[in-house]
Amino acid sequence: MTNTVSIPYERDGNDVVGFGSYRILETFAGPADEADDPVLEDIRRKVMRAMEDFPELTGKTVTVGRLDPDEDVLGQAQFWNLLIKFPVESLTSWRTVYHELAHLAIHVRNQRGEDVPPTSEPFCSIVGISRMPIKLIDDDRISYLGRPDVPREEWPEICQRALEYREERGANSHYIQQCCDWLEIDDRESRNPY
Ligand SMILES: [Zn+2]
Repeated sequence: MTNTVSIPYERDGNDVVGFGSYRILETFAGPADEADDPVLEDIRRKVMRAMEDFPELTGKTVTVGRLDPDEDVLGQAQFWNLLIKFPVESLTSWRTVYHELAHLAIHVRNQRGEDVPPTSEPFCSIVGISRMPIKLIDDDRISYLGRPDVPREEWPEICQRALEYREERGANSHYIQQCCDWLEIDDRESRNPY
């Protein structure tokens, strides 16, 4: 099944409405109807809403598949295929949906020749949080960074600031550590996917 979602973005100071779309693989959805499947209904709603915050995905089709239950992660992205995977046994957090979509957006930007690291998990987490509306932040930690001490309301703005810091000072500017300092993360957990 394919869904088209209208994504407004800005170009040369003018608002433009673009279109991105997503489809949910049968391996995720199975034969079940959405009405009978709260996990499917939930992931559809979250992917559709979160795509609005990734204008890079305008004109692209994102595929949603099933995460192998043996994988010890919350979600997964095969960014070269624009494929994201989530568990079918449990609901996925907004934070994870934004993280996986960020992998795809970073891949698209990398392919356009932008200076972004396509395989850095901490960078991906920072991009993901930077795009989140505050009311959708539904967790008290950030994957591959740790547990911030500052209130959630400040996370997106701090992550945006860290990305600007990187842009101004370069990829070797220790922007991840700077971000963790601003977020007041004492024990940085750069390898912890949870
Ligand atoms: Zn990731």
